[in-house]
Amino acid sequence: MTTTLAIANQKGGVAKTTSVASLGAALAELGDAVLLVDLDPQACLTFSLGIDPEDLELSVHHVLTKGLDPTEVVLETDDGVHLLPATIELARAEADLLTRTGREHVVRGMIEDLAAAGSHYDWVLLDCPPSLGVLTVAALTAADGVVVPLQCETLSHRGVGQLLDTVHDVRRFTNRDLEVWGVLPTLFDGRTNHARTVLETISETYDLAVIEPPIPKTIKFAEAPAAGRSILATSRSSKGAKAYREVAVNLRERVRAGAKG
Ligand code: ADP
Ligand code: MG
Repeated sequence: MTTTLAIANQKGGVAKTTSVASLGAALAELGDAVLLVDLDPQACLTFSLGIDPEDLELSVHHVLTKGLDPTEVVLETDDGVHLLPATIELARAEADLLTRTGREHVVRGMIEDLAAAGSHYDWVLLDCPPSLGVLTVAALTAADGVVVPLQCETLSHRGVGQLLDTVHDVRRFTNRDLEVWGVLPTLFDGRTNHARTVLETISETYDLAVIEPPIPKTIKFAEAPAAGRSILATSRSSKGAKAYREVAVNLRERVRAGAKG
């Protein structure tokens, strides 16, 4: 069984991409087969996994808008995960797809095509762009669950309602089974009570589960992308790597519990 998660928040800089790379590496360490999909035209995920988008001829853009076979685009990375990479061309996908019938289903179709071609994944993690446009809606349409990375600052809740409205529409029109798995506190400064308070307020206001543990703010994260590896490889025993490993274990538990129930 494959579990597909959209890591979404239309706010930039909340650690969506970092969470996708780190959780992907953590799940792979646990022995799971993982596919990461870069759906952001900025291609930060692709870059952070050691692949220069400028060197790529084929990318997720060609699959989504031109019907290319996704098996021709999947790459293996040093972090033990597979990647459907992005390039800046993906910036055109929003416009290209806007007038296309079935645009909400292009990501789902891509994942189904991979399964039909015999590629098995336990996890597909979708790194969403910082908007609520066509690509994010297509990711939510393909997903079993959505995880919302959130920096616990005073104003960080302003976008959450809008994101949840989009999730509600997706549930209604394109993906009845989409579940909100919860918010993942990122860039968390545990030294202050402020972050905790903001987190509790958001969780109560929107009736959202909190995925534990919070990911601490640490300078180590700044160094990982330049190395082309996730923080799990560059700072194996850092607090941040440890937190992502624990989150990965909890995500697996959730799938296991769901399978039983
Ligand atoms: P998004 O994909 O939501 O735009 P990124 O994952 O690109 O966010 O992260 C934004 C910036 O924050 C990056 O420079 C990243 O290295 C940094 N960052 C992410 N997580 C942490 C953390 N826990 N501590 C410190 N810096 C972090
Ligand atoms: Mg990003």
